[in-house]
Amino acid sequence: MELAIYLYFGICNLGLMKVYNTLSQNKEELTPLSDKEIKMYVCGPTVYGYIHIGNARAYIAFDVIYRWLKHKGFDVTYVRNLTDVDDKIINRAKEENTTAGDIAKKYIEAFHNDMDVLGVLPPDIEPTATETIPKMLEIIEGLIDKGLAYEADGDVFYRVRSFKDYGKLSKRSIDELEAGARVEVDERKEDPLDFALWKKAKEGEPAWDSLWGKGRPGWHLECSAMSLQYLKRETIDIHGGGHDLIFPHHENEIAQSEGYTGKPFVKYWLHNGFVNIKKEKMAKSVGNIVTIKELEERYKDRLNDLRNSFRMLFLKTHYRSPIDFDDELLTEAEASGDGISEIYKRIAFIIDEAPDINEDKSVELEELSSKLEQTFTSAMDDDFNSSVAISLIFDFIRDLNIFLDDNTNLSRATKGALVNSRNLINKLLLLLGFNFPIEIKLNLPPKIANTYEEFAKKKALGDVDKMLQELLEIRDKAKANKEFSKADQIRDELNAIGIKIEDTPLGPVASPSPEPNYEDE
Ligand code: AMP
Ligand code: ZN
Repeated sequence: MELAIYLYFGICNLGLMKVYNTLSQNKEELTPLSDKEIKMYVCGPTVYGYIHIGNARAYIAFDVIYRWLKHKGFDVTYVRNLTDVDDKIINRAKEENTTAGDIAKKYIEAFHNDMDVLGVLPPDIEPTATETIPKMLEIIEGLIDKGLAYEADGDVFYRVRSFKDYGKLSKRSIDELEAGARVEVDERKEDPLDFALWKKAKEGEPAWDSLWGKGRPGWHLECSAMSLQYLKRETIDIHGGGHDLIFPHHENEIAQSEGYTGKPFVKYWLHNGFVNIKKEKMAKSVGNIVTIKELEERYKDRLNDLRNSFRMLFLKTHYRSPIDFDDELLTEAEASGDGISEIYKRIAFIIDEAPDINEDKSVELEELSSKLEQTFTSAMDDDFNSSVAISLIFDFIRDLNIFLDDNTNLSRATKGALVNSRNLINKLLLLLGFNFPIEIKLNLPPKIANTYEEFAKKKALGDVDKMLQELLEIRDKAKANKEFSKADQIRDELNAIGIKIEDTPLGPVASPSPEPNYEDE
């Protein structure tokens, strides 16, 4: 499959990449710990309600990072967890008079649906906290053995002052934290800064057996355990999440993981900026959230437009910068997507209708395309700068439109270069997770044309085999009926979307294999 990606998208390029590391507060060269492998962990949702726009931004930001790293040829293992045991879930279950398990199940389903609508690729592994309890117990025991944790009346706390590096990610000193601590007084704690690794079960709550009696894990511990268990590494390459997780969540993860293994936990810490509403962070606790579910209802019959507009809105801003959300921004984002659909339409019309005379301008288009590919790559290699990357695509579309205004009669070769330009736009947009269907205008009988459009859609979904087979049959029939221009059109257009058809003595062969891959999602 890697070979297919290689053939399809040209030379894989593991060139220099830079990422901003919250730990060093600098952009650093990205060099994985082991060869081309990247082990990446991103904190997933606590499943007690519908996710909001702020949460979705985090998952989209890391989706683009995941896609780009894979495109660069890294062998990425991406773990994004589900926190399915937590106070909030238990409280919600009480409110709805049901079990915590049912609440988790309901909102995991809703989360997956939202991710599908927004075109967020599933991670390689999506563990739940409740299936990782044994690893959590192991870590707690290790921390107690090392004097970094203590039991108090069925709870277990982390002894923060015993971990010398505490505060290194959030750049806070322990004394400063202590002074500013607005931590609830808990007499069982040795120090107000200590945090819970294990919480004694209360009546009617989900609970697991442990050496300290029945209880459940603390939230911070869950991520340390899931990272260790599913990435199978004491030190991972990338850990991500929203900016709000730096303290205390990620600081505590470091204390637990490094305290337990004695090794650095994470090489690069990446954090996305907030979605604000009127300068205030969007959060359930503030009461200013807009859920993805609400947007889905609004965009009911055109969920693909929601995906594109939503991504446009977020990816036009660098992932680390804040965004002040309002409805108008979403409408604007949707309007800017029209520029893409328009150029696809314009090209489809020209390919189909323009007279075919010989005036080869393909070099001009090829130069523009190769410049776009290079500058786009540099932008994305520079801490995933999708903002610059998208503006480059729009500059390219503007240049294409100018080219088409100036050149009305295109040669066959120029048309070919034009189709390649369109395919380049499509490829780069797919790498950012957009899905703007390529407009295809074939002079075919309606049934065949529909089949063809259907094919393009299916391809976008990665389910191409059947459609490809049907198209090859249509082409065979056309050839048998001596409708050679129709047969050639099918071949050329398939070629334009990356599938080369060659006639061999054994019949037509499609290559490279249209096997689904991540770019096809
Ligand atoms: P939570 O379910 O609150 O733990 O959040 C899930 C993810 O969304 C985490 O990575 C958070 O950092 C991120 N997140 C939450 N609120 C916002 C926001 N307003 N803007 C950006 N990211 C957010
Ligand atoms: Zn986490």
